[in-house]
Amino acid sequence: MDLRPVRTPTWLAVLLLLAGCGRPAVHEAEFYVFGTMVQVSIAGASDELSNKAFALLQDRFQKMHRDWHAWEPSKLTAINAAFAEGKSIQADAEMTELIGLSQRAEQQTGGRFNPAIGELIELWGFHTSNFPVHGPVPAAEQLASLVARHPSTADIEIGPDGLYSRNPAVQLDFGGIAKGFAVDIACAELRGLGVNNAIVNAGGDLRAYGTEGTRPWRIAIKNPLGGVLGSLEIHGDESVFTSGNYERYLETANQERYAHIIDPATGRPAREVMSATVVARDGWLADAAATAFVVAGLSAWSDLAQSLGIRMLLLTDASGQVYATPEMLERVQLTGDHPAIILSSEMQNRDLTD
Ligand code: AMP
Ligand code: MG
Repeated sequence: MDLRPVRTPTWLAVLLLLAGCGRPAVHEAEFYVFGTMVQVSIAGASDELSNKAFALLQDRFQKMHRDWHAWEPSKLTAINAAFAEGKSIQADAEMTELIGLSQRAEQQTGGRFNPAIGELIELWGFHTSNFPVHGPVPAAEQLASLVARHPSTADIEIGPDGLYSRNPAVQLDFGGIAKGFAVDIACAELRGLGVNNAIVNAGGDLRAYGTEGTRPWRIAIKNPLGGVLGSLEIHGDESVFTSGNYERYLETANQERYAHIIDPATGRPAREVMSATVVARDGWLADAAATAFVVAGLSAWSDLAQSLGIRMLLLTDASGQVYATPEMLERVQLTGDHPAIILSSEMQNRDLTD
C-alpha cells in the first residue's frame, strides 16, 4: 500500500443504481485515500443511511491515512522516532490494536510478514508515492547491517507507559497490513450504523459482507499483468487481498527491476511469486498473509497456509502461471485460457488438465 497525501475534497459522487433482476438498489461512493480509490457499495439501505455511512467512512479513512503514514509526519512517525531514541510513547487504542495484530501476523508468518523493517523499505527508496523509483540497488553491507539488527514487532512492549521498543532498529511500516485493518474498521462502522450488505474496496483489495439482494456479491481478482485474473462470489463475510511484486519497484540504470516486497531475512525483494491472492474473513489477516505468501515463494506456501489457517490461496509466478488451492478453484472463475496448477496440501502440484 502506498500512502499518498490526502486530496480534498475526495468524496466524488453517490450513484444510485436502479434495482431489478434480484438486484436491490446499490449505493456507491468513491474517495481517494491510502494512495488509491476506495469504493464503497451498499445494498438494501435507504439513501439517507447510505449517505450517512459514506460521510462517516470518508472521515474514518482520512484519519487512518494521517495517523499511519510511514514517512510524512504522523502518529506513526512519532512512534518510530521514540523507538529509535529508546523512549516510551503513548498510543491510541487503534494504533495499539494495529501493532498487536502486526505482532500476531509476524509470528504466524514466521517473520515473512514483518512491518518492523521500515528502515529497509526506506533504504530501497520505497517511502514514496512516485513509482517506479529510479536509482542504484542499496549497498550489500548496508542491507546486511540492517538485517543483522533483527528488527521485529516482538521487540515492542505495550504497557501502561505506552509503547516501547527494546530494539532501536524497529521502524514500523504498515504498508502491508493497514489497508486490511482499515477495511475491517470500515465494515465494523457500517454494521454499527445498521448497514447489512456492503463492499469496501480499496483498489481491488476488499472486505465484503451480506449479499446484493438475492444473489451473492461477485468481485474481481486483480491480474498482476493488468486486467483481472478472475472473479469470485463472496460467502458471508470475507476479505480478498492481492499482493504483487509488479506495480511498485525500483529500476536501475541498466533497467533491472527490484520490487517493493522485501524478504526480511535477506533485506532484498522477493522474486519467485509475482502475486498472491488470499481469502480470509478478516482484512488485516488477508492483507498481511498476501504479503507473506509473496515472500514465502512457491515451495513454502503450504506451511504458511497451515500456520495462518488459510485455505483459499491463489499464486502467480514470474511467467504468469496461476496456482490455486482446491478450495480457491472451487470458488473462483478464472478468465485466462491457461489452466491453473492445483496447490494440494500434499505439496504435489498437478496440472488441472491431467
Ligand atoms: P502489500 O501490497 O500489502 O503486499 O504491501 C506491500 C508494502 O508493505 C510495501 O510497499 C512495504 O511498505 C511493506 N512491506 C514490504 N515488504 C514487507 C514485509 N516483508 N513485511 C511487511 N511489510 C512489508
Ligand atoms: Mg499486504
